[in-house]
Amino acid sequence: MEEHNQRIIVIEGPSGAGKDTIIKTLTKKYPDRFAKLVSVATRAMRPNESQGNPYHFVSNEEFDQMVASGDIFEYTIRHGEKRGMSEKYINEIFAQNKIPLKDCNLIGVKALQSRFKHVTTIFITADKNEIEQRLHKRGDALSDIQARMQDYDECIKEAKYYDYVIKNDNLQKTIDKIIEIIYN
Ligand code: ADP
Repeated sequence: MEEHNQRIIVIEGPSGAGKDTIIKTLTKKYPDRFAKLVSVATRAMRPNESQGNPYHFVSNEEFDQMVASGDIFEYTIRHGEKRGMSEKYINEIFAQNKIPLKDCNLIGVKALQSRFKHVTTIFITADKNEIEQRLHKRGDALSDIQARMQDYDECIKEAKYYDYVIKNDNLQKTIDKIIEIIYN
């Protein structure tokens, strides 16, 4: 089980803190070191999406089979749509000698830790008003921004359960800190 000794990095934080940007920057800057771990989902693919981006799209039956076989080891159902983490895709990344980067909440962290020995968790934060500005800039709908700002306080409370907390004011500095955490 050598691959289970390999490391997984979790990047979590409130919406707008910069998780997606950080994961994209790391995988673009160091394509031979990092890969984004993509979840499996049953929802319909939208016009601007493709297989693997932003999900590995599967049918409901395929999803259920992956759960039954134990490959999908954590999942959620929302509005009848399923989304989960598959061990197969983690092992694919390990096989390429890369480190998987995943954004997931504490339930996801627990599930990862129950299967993998080395899970390093990093919580990304930013000030509430800064986040609100970023969400506007990102072009989120006003109703989405409202909902995300309501989730902010709840989300921030979970920071203490993560191994590291980084305030993402300056993207480059955040990237440097993450590299330092991973490679000491
Ligand atoms: P999340 O994935 O956590 O929801 P995003 O990565 O989508 O957040 O970032 C939210 C917005 O903030 C994006 O428009 C992104 O370009 C911007 N952003 C990310 N990091 C920074 C930063 N350090 N400084 C300023 N803007 C940032």
